[in-house]
Amino acid sequence: MSISPQIFELIRQEVKRQQEGLVMIASENYASEDSLKAIGTPLSNKYSEGYPGKRFYTGNQYIDEIENLAKFEALKMFNLSDQEWTANVQPHSGSSANIAVYMGMLNPGDKLMGSDLSQGGHLTHGSPVNFSGKLFNFAHYGVNETTHLLDYDKIEEIAIAEQPKMIVCGATAYPRTIDFARFRAIADKVGALLLADIAHIIGLIIAGVHPSPFPYADFVTSTTHKTLSGPRSGFVISKIQYAPQIDKAIFPGMQGGPLDNIIAAKAICFSEAQSEEFKAKQIQTVKNCQALAKKLMDEGIKVITNGTDNHLLLIDCRSVNLLGKEGANLLAEANIYTNFNTVPYDPAKPFNPSGMRMGTAALSTRGMKEEELEMIGGWIAQILKNPEDKNLREEIKTKVKELTLGFPIYENFQI
Ligand SMILES: *Cc1c(COP(=O)(O)O)cnc(C)c1O
Repeated sequence: MSISPQIFELIRQEVKRQQEGLVMIASENYASEDSLKAIGTPLSNKYSEGYPGKRFYTGNQYIDEIENLAKFEALKMFNLSDQEWTANVQPHSGSSANIAVYMGMLNPGDKLMGSDLSQGGHLTHGSPVNFSGKLFNFAHYGVNETTHLLDYDKIEEIAIAEQPKMIVCGATAYPRTIDFARFRAIADKVGALLLADIAHIIGLIIAGVHPSPFPYADFVTSTTHKTLSGPRSGFVISKIQYAPQIDKAIFPGMQGGPLDNIIAAKAICFSEAQSEEFKAKQIQTVKNCQALAKKLMDEGIKVITNGTDNHLLLIDCRSVNLLGKEGANLLAEANIYTNFNTVPYDPAKPFNPSGMRMGTAALSTRGMKEEELEMIGGWIAQILKNPEDKNLREEIKTKVKELTLGFPIYENFQI
């Protein structure tokens, strides 16, 4: 007997959880209904190894059109010319997009430089437990010990001492603006290629609320499911002279057939990201995050860098005598979902660090504004300051459910 009914019931339960909770995990969002629709289509059946016009299988006439549209929209959303830039939309994830750039442009053992995982970088920026740190020789940079801001003079010093062939900038848990022009100047000083990994802030960049990595970076990688509200996936944009190396690294270098259903969903989210509505949402996302940061600070909770310029913030749970995992678990009891995270120069271990990360992308997709975020910030503070009070968490869970009723998700989506 098929377990489909059981699986579909679990899917319905998960959608209900997403409806009745506050998704404040900074890397999560609600994909648009159209991109979800494209994911669940028979495009998933097709094999199309190769690239448009150069496939290893027949029957790809429609798939070619879809992939070409996705590539076209990827450049259009950044106003890039196809005479200077090319997109490869085949990477299965943000991590795969980064592997593609490293493997396409460098040899195993080559020296790179990336942000330390414990100071805002991503696993794929040279963490020793990741392929990147195992295959390549990464030097790391971080943030200033007192300001917790990227210290560009120090980064330049490290680059001069280490002479990396590539510098990776971009982060997973950095609440402030990244100066891509300065990274370019540092890369030029040592003759390094520059990769900007904008997995988190891509939506903000498209909306103009964070400076763009174009034209500074040689390669820009991103996910499509964080601030972009598309399918779970990734892509690379590179300067046109490097495109053949990037294409070869992805296929046949590291992948077989592309996920054509996901590529269709990427085309959709790239075009949705060019709407005025999307831009307004990104602007609101940042305002919401700043309202949340202010409320938490007013409540005496330490916010790293005393605020945020983007869609996420980091709190230091030691300011309420907790560790991050405890804090995140307490909030989850009230249907408020966040994640534990290291804070810069964290003395605690990564699996039980001192901080928590929160973001406002998903709540902003639901239409919440400053007023709701201030209220939510108040609930978060109450819970973290009263870890013994289980009743309080129950009461807040009821209020959370009531609040979410006014912000429905996937109203037209049948499962
Ligand atoms: C999320 C993220 C990635 C990886 O994305 P996956 O799709 O989870 O592989 C890469 N780089 C940065 C900076 C990220 O935040």
